[in-house]
This record gives sequence, structure tokens and C-alpha cells, in this order.
Amino acid sequence: MLVLNKHYMAIHVTNVKRAFSLLARGLAEVLHVEDGQYLNYDFESWLEVSEFKRRFEPADHDWLRTVRFEVAVPRIVRLTVYDRLPKQQVKFNRRNIYARDGSRCQYCGRHFPTSELSLDHVVPRSRGGRTTWENVVCACLSCNVKKGGRTPTEAHLTLVKEPRRPRRNPVITLRLSSSTKYRSWKHFLEHAYWSVELK
Ligand SMILES: [Zn+2]
Repeated sequence: MLVLNKHYMAIHVTNVKRAFSLLARGLAEVLHVEDGQYLNYDFESWLEVSEFKRRFEPADHDWLRTVRFEVAVPRIVRLTVYDRLPKQQVKFNRRNIYARDGSRCQYCGRHFPTSELSLDHVVPRSRGGRTTWENVVCACLSCNVKKGGRTPTEAHLTLVKEPRRPRRNPVITLRLSSSTKYRSWKHFLEHAYWSVELK
């Protein structure tokens, strides 16, 4: 089960037991895709919705059976109470680096689909370059190869702009579509891939 923070960013995947404990304690809510819309339910209303779903669409859900009730297992929960991230700090991850650089190679300045971009250490790691906002940029594969283990100056490459830590989080756009359950999973799993903190 995917866990989102308050700002709808995927932060980790958790098991059913842990997710229900968060829900029951009022620390999280269910985010459910219904007719292409994301609807939020607290635990009580999710139990009610579950009863309805149990009756009319039992095959669409996995079920958790307890002594007291049967409840549909939600696919996504969102933390409502606390954030794991300080609010002002933009998380250092692939998605946010690509967002900061506008999916442009920072050496040749051209736009690329994200699948054709990689992350490059401006000062190579072998030369003591660190994995930080100020030293990691988007680069296309050909610039990356051309640069190799050298500094931009040595490789006769110029940065499009000086890399910095962004001040604000890139806005998360939830693309609403006529999602099937698998499409909604796919969207959020991709989301998780982009949100994993880089080490
Ligand atoms: Zn390039």
C-alpha cells in the first residue's frame, strides 16, 4: 500500500497492518480513485463505503476480515497529521532534480523525454564531487558520455545555469483520468520511483 504525505507525494510503501493502524488512529485517510477522481475518506467513512462495496462490487477489492468487520483494503493512504519532511525543504530526489532543470540537458540545453536523461555530477565523484543540489544536474546521454569523468571545463562543456537547491516544491499534478485500478497503481508507483531520496 502506497503512503502519500500531506502534499500527495509518495513517501513509502507499507503493509496492510501498518496502514490500518494509521487509519484507525486518525493519522491517515484513504485516497480512493472513483470514476477518475481522487476521493478522501477518513476511517469511519471508509468502513461505510466498504459495506456498500462489499455488497455491490466485491470483486473490485481485496478484503481484510477482522472479528468485527470486513473492510476493503485501500490502495493508497495519505498522512493527514504529520509530515516526514520539513515543509520548506525540497526533497533531493530524481523527480525534483528533473523538475528543477525542466527536463533539459544542462550542457547542450535541449529538452529530452525523462527516459533519455540521466543525472550527472558536475564535479565527478572520483574528484570529490558531492551528491548535492549544487553538484548534480540533468544531462542527456550523449553529453554524459562526452563529459566522462571530467569537469565541464576539461570537457569543454558549459552549464546552462548554475545548479542550486530549489526553494519550493514542484507542484504535484494528479492526472485525473478514467482510471482503472491498475492505471491508478501505475501512476502512483511511477510517482514513488521519482520520489525516492537519493543517497
Ligand atoms: Zn546534452
